[in-house]
Amino acid sequence: MSRFTLPRDIYHGKGCLEELKNLKGKKAILVVGGGSMKRQGFLDRAENYLKEAGMEVKLFEGVEPDPSVETVMKGAAVMQEFQPDWIVAMGGGSPIDAAKAMWAFYEYPDVTFEDLCIPFNFPELRTKAKFAAIPSTSGTATEVTAFSVITNYQTGVKYPLADFNITPDVAIVDPDLVMGLPVKQVAYTGMDALTHAIEAYVSTLNCPFTDPLALQAIEMVLDYLPASYKCDMVAREQMHYAQCLAGMAFSNALLGIVHSMAHALGAVYDTPHGVANAILLPTVMEYNADATGDKYKYIAKAMGVKGVEDMTQEEYRKAAVDAVKKLSADVGIPADLKEIVKEEDIQFLAESAYADACAPGNPKDASVEDIIGLYKSLL
Ligand code: FE
Repeated sequence: MSRFTLPRDIYHGKGCLEELKNLKGKKAILVVGGGSMKRQGFLDRAENYLKEAGMEVKLFEGVEPDPSVETVMKGAAVMQEFQPDWIVAMGGGSPIDAAKAMWAFYEYPDVTFEDLCIPFNFPELRTKAKFAAIPSTSGTATEVTAFSVITNYQTGVKYPLADFNITPDVAIVDPDLVMGLPVKQVAYTGMDALTHAIEAYVSTLNCPFTDPLALQAIEMVLDYLPASYKCDMVAREQMHYAQCLAGMAFSNALLGIVHSMAHALGAVYDTPHGVANAILLPTVMEYNADATGDKYKYIAKAMGVKGVEDMTQEEYRKAAVDAVKKLSADVGIPADLKEIVKEEDIQFLAESAYADACAPGNPKDASVEDIIGLYKSLL
């Protein structure tokens, strides 16, 4: 049996933040990050729309990047006190991820992080509140996914939480919120979205429900990321939707070792997630190629490669990888890890990547030795 889960409603289009007016409830808690939503006026607007919906509104501000266990517990305590029937999280991935975990502790105060870390082991949510997510970056797609990452800074442990219970009820994908993104962020998050789509498409858990979403996302990233990077706002809007489609695919098909290896780089060197993915993706694609049947033919086509039908398997596989390399270079991302990785760290990096929760989705069973080889090939 396989399950395919998405939010009940995904609102999209410029200005759709206004849909908050139509939520039905009595009390909403609005969870946000460090202040960019406030500075740009989106926090006030969201608060006012919720009030127009007839709700009493409480703000929970200041969720940090890579949200901590403490923040989650603080938020859950505020929710206990306030008893909201809507949790509305707005911002980059972090406030949404944090609010997903707060939700579980609000509804089940006795649950532990250790319980929640067992994949697909959450208690049944929605006994107290429903959840709306509003992304302000175009990459993580946490507004439509079953995932959240919470960090325990005391032990250095990152808790990757995964359960369809934390797939939001409502996603509000309003491109107005990403018009002001710095171009570096556009590049990094866009390549993260491409990696989500490609890893979901070749994942061991891909299926006819996830494949069309993944391929459409790949095509849209190819069509719109370079222009969005050059501040074409029509393209920026389309990238906001492309990353959401990629999220719908990978939430259900999971990912692979590009993400495993990128998580290791993020933990050791603080490498931005999208940069790590973009550098690793072509190399991992080459490594995975012989376990992907004819899938790279469709990736190559979606990446705009001409004449794919007349190519041999070897040719279209190379063409797909080359197209990814070109796109990454076009948005200013380096081609190797020379500036990032120290050779003496590779054993540790490979062991962390091997143990990462994303590794089982990879089409090929990668050993620690294989992963060492992949890192080394990029030095
Ligand atoms: Fe990612």
